[in-house]
Amino acid sequence: MAFENMTEQQAGKTAQELRIKLNKWADEYYTYDSPSVEDAVYDKVYQQLVTLENQFPGIITPDSPTQKVGDRTLPGFTKVPHDIPMLSLGDVFSTDELKSFADRLSNSEAIPFEYNCELKIDGLAISLRYENGVLVQGSTRGNGQIGEDITRNLKTIKSIPERLSRPINIEVRGECYMPKASFVALNQQRQTEGAAPFANPRNAAAGSLRQLDPRVTAHRKLSTFMYNVADYDDLETKTQSGLLEELKSLGFTINPDYQVAHTMSDIDQYIDKYTQKRDSLAYGIDGIVIKVNSLDLQRSLGATVKVPRWAIAYKFPPEQAETIVRNIEWTV
Ligand code: NAD
Repeated sequence: MAFENMTEQQAGKTAQELRIKLNKWADEYYTYDSPSVEDAVYDKVYQQLVTLENQFPGIITPDSPTQKVGDRTLPGFTKVPHDIPMLSLGDVFSTDELKSFADRLSNSEAIPFEYNCELKIDGLAISLRYENGVLVQGSTRGNGQIGEDITRNLKTIKSIPERLSRPINIEVRGECYMPKASFVALNQQRQTEGAAPFANPRNAAAGSLRQLDPRVTAHRKLSTFMYNVADYDDLETKTQSGLLEELKSLGFTINPDYQVAHTMSDIDQYIDKYTQKRDSLAYGIDGIVIKVNSLDLQRSLGATVKVPRWAIAYKFPPEQAETIVRNIEWTV
């Protein structure tokens, strides 16, 4: 049945069926790092739910996947509350949708067109807390409010500094990922050992970080790109691009392929460039993130319960789009 012809009651029932399906997939993906469907399938069904909830806002439930970040944390890890939540990102799947996002912002808030374009690294979000410049705690995003303490595991990753170049208190956020070469080698090794291969580098990274024995993590050759701070009051920079450089000067590894865009055509060119370069990169990317460059504007725009209003992810089309779309089990 088409959404337009539904009553609110029918929409509520359909939405609940979609949520059950999405929650099961999210549990497999976030909690057990073992997805049973491609991301494009999840994204398509998620978009159906978004469409339905936009049309009938009365059917939205607080536990809907559209209202929450990530999923449960694993038992065995100490829980870490995130005083400043770790959010997800809104996503768009075409440059037209991206343009609408930028138009909405510039119309409503008189925002100058200055965005920082970054690669969307296909890994998992981590948070690193430093006191007097020394790493004291590292955690996963978890459900955005509460993550898992993985400090000992993160300390085995070479790109994460144990001591910063300045003795400051700071909480830095970014992405932990498994380079493509490490992923291939790990899956080959797992095959010879008779263990199930990881579905993709993102799940391999997540599975490798959330290990109770840090020696396992140490062998998995993970790396990081940091791109955000929980609180930037102590930093001098006023822009997202400046923030990346400041993080670099503190000792973090940042992704060097960011670019400030002043026009929509700059963004289009950035997307084209990295759509073509994507396969030749040493790590996986699943899209591009576009962020309002001014940190003051980021702060004043704020966030919904799930995503910042000052950033959006443009997701690349899935690699075997046709096969995946054909395999989608349409629910409505
Ligand atoms: P997301 O991964 O689509 O986007 C948000 C995340 O992007 C951030 O939390 C951050 O970790 C990451 N990121 C990477 N580079 C970044 C950068 N430069 N700046 C800022 N953030 C950056 O959203 P999500 O909520 O983590 O996950 C939802 C996605 O996960 C879905 O769209 C789907 O593709 C996938 N998923 C798949 C399944 C499945 O069964 N296959 C299930 C659940 C979710």
